[in-house]
Amino acid sequence: MELLKGKKAIVTGGTSGIGREIARTFAENGADVVVFGTNPDNAKAAIEEIEKSKISADQKVESRIVNVSDMNAVNEAISAILAEWGQVDILVNNAGITRDNLLMKMSEQDWDDVMQVNLKSVYNTCKALARPMMKAKTGKIINISSVVGLNGNAGQVNYAASKSGMIGFTQSLAKELATRGISVNCIAPGYIKTRMTEVLSDQVKESVLTQIPMRKIGSPTDIAQAALFLASGMSNYITGQVITVDGGMVM
Ligand code: NAD
Repeated sequence: MELLKGKKAIVTGGTSGIGREIARTFAENGADVVVFGTNPDNAKAAIEEIEKSKISADQKVESRIVNVSDMNAVNEAISAILAEWGQVDILVNNAGITRDNLLMKMSEQDWDDVMQVNLKSVYNTCKALARPMMKAKTGKIINISSVVGLNGNAGQVNYAASKSGMIGFTQSLAKELATRGISVNCIAPGYIKTRMTEVLSDQVKESVLTQIPMRKIGSPTDIAQAALFLASGMSNYITGQVITVDGGMVM
């Protein structure tokens, strides 16, 4: 398919897991893609894989080492991309971390780190791209939240607050930009098989499975397909929404 032919996309945290599959799916649909990540080895491996999914030789696929919680680093990277590409049509805010603990044991550092990477990053990238997207009168912003941002989860007050914050941010920015041809939506993944969930104990994994009506964990492809829909013209009358992709966990 060529749903994103000629479109230019940035995927943060696109060097592994869900973000990498989103970037690969966008390339498979004709987009030029830049992935932001922090690990050069992962970035190299991601680019090799994404390159193979391109549908035309002149599609551009690049990686940049960018700490998305650092506003100056984000501004610098986005300015360079705009100078090279002219515009960015699609932004996926996917970079995220967990630092789980019960509130009573959670350090201030763990609170701050999660807020910086998961939420401040969304402010940084959207702030840098809102004006260029407004000028271009087009844009699709997709924020990767979580079902935990909708329902909460014991042991994750920092992560859940950051993911709920993302939803409030999305709805507010959607209202600010709705008349400018820019849509802003969230995807709330449920339990998806990636590095982030592989570290959970078997006991936790089994307990999560009982909460999923479909009784199976999701794959990064399940999320990438939803992101493709929101990035494409198929979703042009949709903004400010949260699409849960979770096997029925939240309903
Ligand atoms: P992952 O650990 O494979 O991916 C996270 C990505 O974020 C990595 O590529 C990492 O390099 C990047 N990243 C982390 N800190 C960064 C920083 N400061 N600057 C730039 N990049 C940074 O995990 P994943 O499961 O693919 O997670 C992707 C997103 O999906 C996250 O936002 C996560 O919260 C969300 N999510 C995942 C699940 C799940 O079950 N796996 C469920 C709900 C939501």
